[in-house]
Amino acid sequence: MELLLEKIGAYSVAILFCLIVVIIYLRKQKRESKRVEEKIVQAKLDGMYEPVSLHPVVDEGSCIRTGACIAACPEHDILGIRNGKATTINASHCVGHGACFHACPTQAITLCIGTEKRGVELPHVNQTFETNVPGIYIAGELGGMGLIKNAVEQGRQAVDNIAKTIKKNHQATYDLIIIGAGPAGISASLNAKKHQLKFLTLEQDSLGGTVFTFPRSKIVMTSAMDVPLHGKIKLSETSKTELLDFWMTVLKKHAIDVTQNTKVESITPENGIFKIETSKCDQYTASTVLLAIGRRGSPRKLGVPGETLEKVAYRLLEAEEINGKDIMVVGGGDSAIESALLLADQNKVTLTYRSDAFSRIKPKNNTKIKEAIADGRINMMFNTNTVSIEKDSVIVSSGADKKELTIKNDLIYIFAGGELPTQFLQKIGIQITKKFGEAILKHN
Ligand SMILES: Cc1cc2nc3c(=O)[nH]c(=O)nc-3n(C[C@H](O)[C@H](O)[C@H](O)COP(=O)(O)OP(=O)(O)OC[C@H]3O[C@@H](n4cnc5c(N)ncnc54)[C@H](O)[C@@H]3O)c2cc1C
Ligand code: SF4
Repeated sequence: MELLLEKIGAYSVAILFCLIVVIIYLRKQKRESKRVEEKIVQAKLDGMYEPVSLHPVVDEGSCIRTGACIAACPEHDILGIRNGKATTINASHCVGHGACFHACPTQAITLCIGTEKRGVELPHVNQTFETNVPGIYIAGELGGMGLIKNAVEQGRQAVDNIAKTIKKNHQATYDLIIIGAGPAGISASLNAKKHQLKFLTLEQDSLGGTVFTFPRSKIVMTSAMDVPLHGKIKLSETSKTELLDFWMTVLKKHAIDVTQNTKVESITPENGIFKIETSKCDQYTASTVLLAIGRRGSPRKLGVPGETLEKVAYRLLEAEEINGKDIMVVGGGDSAIESALLLADQNKVTLTYRSDAFSRIKPKNNTKIKEAIADGRINMMFNTNTVSIEKDSVIVSSGADKKELTIKNDLIYIFAGGELPTQFLQKIGIQITKKFGEAILKHN
């Protein structure tokens, strides 16, 4: 009897212990779900919930809540656990590393492009990276596959294919013109040199592509890459500066000069070759063209006198390093508002917008900009257009009477929208299809 009572006592303690563990576990799970739910609400408010391009899709039936995907993702708060299942939070921040896809032990993750509601336009290319326009090729993120490593690989492969097709007696000045000097364009340029092609690389902005726009503090994740003329390089975790320095050193070593600040405006087929026109009114001819222009598009210019001055910029990098300046921000979208808010802490900021109110901006930005205008941190000028940009000032026309005003100015940031890469492709005649949630990386 005593033994039985002892056994019952021992079982009761064990059951109680298990119960406590289960209760603690369930409470923890509930707290975690609540935190993720709050983050999702915030992500929706910030407009970050809906994916823009590549993103993970979780099969809830297969998810067993290991959290391996979350631990593996080098970006922040893209995935979280809600009600015991992985779910996306800031899906628009996904850059397509695919680390979540590889980390999941139950293969519950697929990497997709676009969603049922929001399609992503992708150009048609064949296995040699050639488009439906013979002689025009595409490499890198423009083709739908993100990441530095993939862009480098595609840039290399595309030029291997191009080198096989170049006719010796073509009438063009160049065998190949490469447009864009991001990872794909840089790799293509190195490979073109390796193949001894007569080529030219044109970049609308600065060497490095999207990598150039990363914040200085960003850790760049990339796996081993095969860089033409250099060989295999392993940089699993690096910084933006280190990566850009690497590109510059390799290009310099092989005497490759990228023509920067030169936007390609048009590509026209003419007598079996291509005529290429740039923003600098230069014209070139090439037997083949490689588009390595990524997916960010080209910023729209205002077309006013003085826009070529050095103080004019179309994006904001390292805001924390700009102090004590008179700054004008032009535009009424999220980029303009976010930049104006970032700069307003240490500078005198005027925000000009051609309309009489903001429309379609993120709710969070709407609240913040209203506060900044109300407490005088930002000088807001609605119904205002830029007339001309001078060395120390900007002339604007403001209000219904279009009164001209001169505003003291050191720097001007213009966010007037831009041309999407797909619009550029359509003008050339390249076929495009909208992908609605199509799997780019999936388990069989
Ligand atoms: C926030 C963020 C973080 C990321 N983090 C990582 C990471 O850690 N690791 C990783 O591997 N990838 C990361 N990526 C993705 C990576 O940056 C891209 O996949 C890669 O840069 C694509 O290379 P690309 O050469 O195809 O295009 P891009 O790098 O976009 O380069 C295209 C170039 O073409 C130029 N161009 C466009 N139009 C024209 C024109 N008409 N005339 C002349 N030039 C033109 C552009 O100015 C640009 O320089 C990240 C992306 C973002 C946005
Ligand atoms: S694909 Fe990359 S960025 Fe996107 S969730 Fe997975 S690991 Fe994160």
